[in-house]
Amino acid sequence: MERRVPGVPAAPGLAGGLVQHLVQASGQPRSGATASLERAALDAAMLAVRAELEMLAGRLAGAEAAILGFQIALLDDPELVREAEARIAAGIPADRAWIEGMASEIRCLEAADDPHFRARATDLADLRDAVLAQLRPDGRAATILHPGCILAAEDLTPSLFLRMDWQRGSGIVLGGGSAASHVAMLARGRGIPMVVGVGKVWADLSGPVLVDGDAGLVIAGPAPDILARAAVPPVPASAPDVASGPALTRDGRRIAVEINVATLADLDGVSPESCDGIGLVRTEFLIEHALADEERQLEIYARLLGWARGLPVTIRTLDAGGDKPMRGYSVEGERNPFLGLRGLRLSLARPDLFRIQLRAILRAAALGPLRLLLPMVTTPAEVLAARDHIAKAAAGLAAEGRAFAIPPLGMMLEVPAAAMAAGRFAVDFYSIGTNDLAQFACAAARDDLRISGLADPRHPGLMAMIAHALKEARTLGRPVMLCGDAATDRATLETLLRLGLEGVSVAPPYLARVISEISMIDCGAIDRGTIDCGAIDRGTGDQP
Ligand code: PEP
Ligand code: MG
Repeated sequence: MERRVPGVPAAPGLAGGLVQHLVQASGQPRSGATASLERAALDAAMLAVRAELEMLAGRLAGAEAAILGFQIALLDDPELVREAEARIAAGIPADRAWIEGMASEIRCLEAADDPHFRARATDLADLRDAVLAQLRPDGRAATILHPGCILAAEDLTPSLFLRMDWQRGSGIVLGGGSAASHVAMLARGRGIPMVVGVGKVWADLSGPVLVDGDAGLVIAGPAPDILARAAVPPVPASAPDVASGPALTRDGRRIAVEINVATLADLDGVSPESCDGIGLVRTEFLIEHALADEERQLEIYARLLGWARGLPVTIRTLDAGGDKPMRGYSVEGERNPFLGLRGLRLSLARPDLFRIQLRAILRAAALGPLRLLLPMVTTPAEVLAARDHIAKAAAGLAAEGRAFAIPPLGMMLEVPAAAMAAGRFAVDFYSIGTNDLAQFACAAARDDLRISGLADPRHPGLMAMIAHALKEARTLGRPVMLCGDAATDRATLETLLRLGLEGVSVAPPYLARVISEISMIDCGAIDRGTIDCGAIDRGTGDQP
């Protein structure tokens, strides 16, 4: 019998398949055999995880492959098992010995002064869970997906997502989660349909299901004809013949349509001919394991420029904190992390790491058209401070005789007070971050499903704020893009284009849809006053 489960759309598209529940590494504890058998079980578990990692690393590129390569190197280090071995020799079963042995390693890294080492604690925790899943009799390896499966879980971490082979999985259903979470961004980037917020039902799903990532609906036990619809996947947004630019409104206005990128894999199958460049590179995942490694960062940015083949690439400096915590870098235990020491604030508080990122970006800017974007800017003084760091980074590079260029500097408009004073900031361009701007303007956390509906991109108050920023930018002749998810909402897009917005940046799977929607919008004369966004009455915050 067909059962329809409403949720919240988090990544578009239709996917059908058999449900696979996410198995956390919490199988039955081992009763324990002889020390030599337990030792053999640990060796076998580590070998299985190594094989899994190698297989996945072979399919990934850049930073993603590097993360897995690093974990493989950890597994090869004999020191890693030293403590577990001692415990097994003392008669403790392999699973407990492994957890206890890893606990002290992880604690040690977490306590390190160097943020680079502290960040390694996450890798060790990932490895601990992967090996544990092999060691416990009913604990299957959590990251191996069955071909064509729909993964169902209460929630999913970005690192777990990255460890999975999404050539195999076809869709995601989460009991909790949020459409604005990082894992949702990753799913959108890879074109994996995803519905979040279905509640406890996720645990009861079994057999065939259909995930409708556009409608935010999960259909359990769908009729065969409905399931068959998902078997013919929608043409990938990135296919050049579908999403080919340039994007023109019905009345002929040229709108730049660029893409948001969080990992190098987001570019798989996307052709630069299908867009106008990269409008937002979220660097948090890309350089997570290279915060202090300028050469590695340069290599990653150069890869992005190489892909873009002469189109602009907008690299945003680290926006860690809030919903994007970075272990060992962002502040833990803040009472209100969305309003805390995050984004540019954190970069300015960590000039050592900020300077490394700026040096790598300036060096990459010598290789192609790059724009530098600052996140979570609040005051003009912060931009001046960033400019000062840029100047110092440039001076250092010049003194070393290295090639570099100083790219145009832009700021995200995502703090309401900054959006209302956009003209006061010493920047060359703006990018509107509606995900944050909406949550701050509407005082509704983007990651809390109970209220995130209140952070409605169509809210007239938010539109008034954006209209004001657009007007100030226009007076100064500075370009404005929008890289928040609001660009994928047809009504919001239309209002914003009428207000004079010049370009948008969206996750690759949305490219075709957004370009085609733009072609149906008649902008008319730029609307400098009226703000009519219609649907605000529905903004109760209720989720379907
Ligand atoms: C935004 O806030 O709209 C944005 C694009 O940045 P992020 O989603 O990474 O916070
Ligand atoms: Mg933001």
